[in-house]
Amino acid sequence: MKKNIKNYNLDELKEEIKSLGEKPYRAEQIFKWLYVDNISSFSEMTNLSLDLRKKLDENYSLNSFKIEKKFKSIDGTIKYLFNVQDEEQNMIESVLMSYHHGYTICVSSQIGCKMGCKFCASTGIKFGRNLESSEIIQQLLEIEKDAKVKISNIVFMGIGEPLDNYENVMNSIRIINNPKGLNIGARHISISTSGIVPKIYQLANENMQCTLSISLHSSNNKKRSEMMPINDVYPIEELIKACEYYIKKTNKRISFEYALAKDNNDNLNDAKDLVKLLKGMLAHVNLIPINKIKDGKYTKSSNENIIKFRDYLNDCGIVATIRRELGSDINAACGQLRRQNMRK
Ligand code: SF4
Repeated sequence: MKKNIKNYNLDELKEEIKSLGEKPYRAEQIFKWLYVDNISSFSEMTNLSLDLRKKLDENYSLNSFKIEKKFKSIDGTIKYLFNVQDEEQNMIESVLMSYHHGYTICVSSQIGCKMGCKFCASTGIKFGRNLESSEIIQQLLEIEKDAKVKISNIVFMGIGEPLDNYENVMNSIRIINNPKGLNIGARHISISTSGIVPKIYQLANENMQCTLSISLHSSNNKKRSEMMPINDVYPIEELIKACEYYIKKTNKRISFEYALAKDNNDNLNDAKDLVKLLKGMLAHVNLIPINKIKDGKYTKSSNENIIKFRDYLNDCGIVATIRRELGSDINAACGQLRRQNMRK
């Protein structure tokens, strides 16, 4: 089977090219064609000899996705359902969001997810597999081509737990980072995790400067375990220790995601517990009006409650903001589109 050329970072690609009997600088030319010119066939690499183009074609593949569905929100958010065109015809979702500072893409890292968070549309659907690095990057390349935009920020918040696909996610970031290719700095890349503690330590030791987001959603172990089974494996105390280590190593602020669910985690006592937990930490709380999923048990907290919750945190010295709801008219929360499609 042919190897996908987009699974190689530049150093690895140089080795591959050398093994074909070519000069390593050719790898930089190929890298540019792949990520700057966003070409879809080796024949388009016109500054390479015909012989090298033939060798590339014989030894490597170039993936492309099929846009299965595409929805555009009134706020400009575009949600894509991609067929990754593998043997199983698996589907993944990616979302393009427009902010004043540029375009952000929310990418998927796995086909399905094993974490089983109760409020998530990916729960209840069989886990497929990890995405390869090339498939993570391809989401960005397909959207840049289709929407004719240059993406400047990436968030790993789509389907899947990125730290459960650690090596492929890290390798995709190395490729995306490279100044000779997509050139998106690590500071513009955010990884969101449900809290796989050992991987948070590993990420801290990478010295990569990515932003880390933790899906916290409650500062009470019982409530959090009800929402997120991962909490039974890595309870809040262990998670916070790992976060403190991450901050110490990277000197970067952690963003704690807190989806407010009505009559569940949205009262003043919950806010007080959250203050106790995060007081003194280099942290930011991102309050998310929960997206109700079909059959899901959680419903959105009232706007009044969300504002009260935020104000309480801010008054206590915890920086908290309410995430702007983008694409709510097109079910932009991760996993919803894929879930609908699979049910059909
Ligand atoms: S919220 Fe994220 S980690 Fe939890 S089940 Fe959904 S995709 Fe997985």
